[in-house]
Amino acid sequence: MAKRDNITDIFVIGGGVNGCGIARDAAGRGYSVFLAEMGDLASGTSSAATKLIHGGLRYLEFYEFRLVHEALAEREVLWAMAPHIIWPMRFVLPHHKGLRPAWFLRLGLFVYDHIGARKLLPPTRTLDLRRSPFGRPLKQGYKRAFEYSDCWVDDARLVALTARDAADKGAVVRTRTKVISATREEGIWTIRLQDLETKLRGTVKARLLVNAAGPWVDEVIRDVVGRKEAQHVRLVKGSHIVVRKLFDHDRSYFFQNKDGRIIFAIPYERDYTLVGTTDIDYTTDPGQARISDEERDYLLAAATEYFEKPVTLGDIVWTYSGVRPLFNDHKGKAQETTRDYVLTVEGTKDVGALVNVFGGKLTTHRRLSEEVLERIEKLLGAKGPAWTKGSKLPGGEFAPTAFDAQVEKLNEQYPSLADKFLRRLVRQYGTRAPKILGTAKRMQDLGDLYGADLTQREVDYLFDQEWARTTDDVLWRRTKLGLRVGASDRVRLEAYLNARWERAKR
Ligand code: FAD
Repeated sequence: MAKRDNITDIFVIGGGVNGCGIARDAAGRGYSVFLAEMGDLASGTSSAATKLIHGGLRYLEFYEFRLVHEALAEREVLWAMAPHIIWPMRFVLPHHKGLRPAWFLRLGLFVYDHIGARKLLPPTRTLDLRRSPFGRPLKQGYKRAFEYSDCWVDDARLVALTARDAADKGAVVRTRTKVISATREEGIWTIRLQDLETKLRGTVKARLLVNAAGPWVDEVIRDVVGRKEAQHVRLVKGSHIVVRKLFDHDRSYFFQNKDGRIIFAIPYERDYTLVGTTDIDYTTDPGQARISDEERDYLLAAATEYFEKPVTLGDIVWTYSGVRPLFNDHKGKAQETTRDYVLTVEGTKDVGALVNVFGGKLTTHRRLSEEVLERIEKLLGAKGPAWTKGSKLPGGEFAPTAFDAQVEKLNEQYPSLADKFLRRLVRQYGTRAPKILGTAKRMQDLGDLYGADLTQREVDYLFDQEWARTTDDVLWRRTKLGLRVGASDRVRLEAYLNARWERAKR
């Protein structure tokens, strides 16, 4: 909270991956930090990604070497930081005659393998799809593929855990709290907030303001800070479909489309396949982004082009869409716009500085946060050193390759609970799973069940430790149990969460 003279050092607008990453880094260095998020944590773009921690093979085509180099190096750093929610993934890229030539793909993958500080991730190899099990779900014409490494992340949990760590290090994190206005006088910002649930308003004073509002970044510059003009970002919508499992192995596919774009088909939540994404220029409210019929049909057709069995409308169980806040470099096509981030600093220590964050990826959020902190140090004076490389997120305190050992350990500790349930808890909470399980011997010891294997204890934990307030927070962002929980359980869960919320307010 605000320290000394009741003035907080740093106020962060936005509880996405970038805002939470900056708040965590800053709090860990000893700054006082206040973060306000108008919705739930990760309710903006940060829960709507393809969920890859990747260098971005495709970006090499657009000469984004700086970004690819930085992003590749982050793969193993982030995997070690949170081995429960981040893990390695192998991608199978079928060579498609008439599209990118094999030598070109090989060259790209050679660069990918060699500029990325790769230590644990296995290198690229060539596959004969006619013999490989990974060729089996595909149409027969595909002969050759390249298989390479990247990582997978549970994006919304990455944000929740980053916020948790920031709060553990002293940051104040307020969700459902909108920043209405920010004015500065004699080097100090006065930030007006509104709690969107109680409608109560309040004020916080801060020395420095960070605008990490993602797709709303220009809106904050205009409506909150009061500038007439702001047109720094190009909003590009991307949608995904989740379909019933299309194949039985653990590899993902990287498919090239005839229009020059690419899509991924990724094993998802054990019983499903995630297919995405699209690149559509977008101009309305980022909070209202939904998949269009054209995007849905495009993704179905792109997957059907490769899989032996056509992927149809009836296979879709869920869709989601998000808006990329890309720094506008005025490139023609949406997919060619830079994925790199840009930071701007306005003002000085004496007039109250504003740091704006444009663009950025899940993959680069930690490095982006370090760069923001470098700027902040120049303005507010240095406190602690950079510390997040080599750090752990809550629950991630085990070796990157020791996930199965961690599950085994929990099985030994709770021999009468199902392995499948314990495995899910380790995936989500890592070493913190026993905080939910306590001394439970059977499922009944964990309180009411809200469908699938969601227990009251887990809901309480999410409410107390991870700012979960609504069914969507619990079922779609802190977990993905929305895929398995039915309507009546959802109603019961809502009633329980509302009752907890009423009690908490008293
Ligand atoms: P957000 O997550 O949108 O956070 C900004 C927050 O600010 C929002 O939660 C919003 O509610 C809040 N806010 C706005 N205004 C206010 C206000 N006035 N007061 C309070 N709060 C406010 N990256 C990868 O690394 N790998 C991928 O595979 C990948 N795939 C992607 C696929 C798609 C389709 C998309 C759209 C993006 C993808 N990305 C990926 C990029 C990545 O998801 C985003 O760059 C990142 O999530 C942006 O985070 P952010 O914190 O800047 O924005």
